[in-house]
Amino acid sequence: MEAAIGWGAVFEKGDAGRFTGDVWLRSGPAAGDGTNVGIVHFSPGARTHWHAHPGGQFLYGLTGRGRVRSRGGSGHVLEPGDIVHVPAGEWHFHGGAPDSPVVHVAVNGGGAPEWGDPVTDEDYGEGF
Ligand code: MN
Repeated sequence: MEAAIGWGAVFEKGDAGRFTGDVWLRSGPAAGDGTNVGIVHFSPGARTHWHAHPGGQFLYGLTGRGRVRSRGGSGHVLEPGDIVHVPAGEWHFHGGAPDSPVVHVAVNGGGAPEWGDPVTDEDYGEGF
């Protein structure tokens, strides 16, 4: 029997067009409607750029401590076991805490995310 069908055992480094700092991604299979799952590792202070998912996104904290914040919103500290839902089309970022890496599962609704500007240090610190 084939284990882990559709899962690559390979981590891809997060590129500077979408991420700040040291980020590693492992992408899983996509369902027929485009829903897909990935595991993301962020070093302390590393984060996504501002972005929005057309089908929304669930983040599930596995280990470490991270940060999630929607543009203009208050910050959420992502702890192991937390499940955060980011509504469809909502601009946000996620990443590690300043003093801790984080690993989270991401379950993404279908459609390619829209990517924006890097999250500045000021934006990263706001609301926490
Ligand atoms: Mn996201």
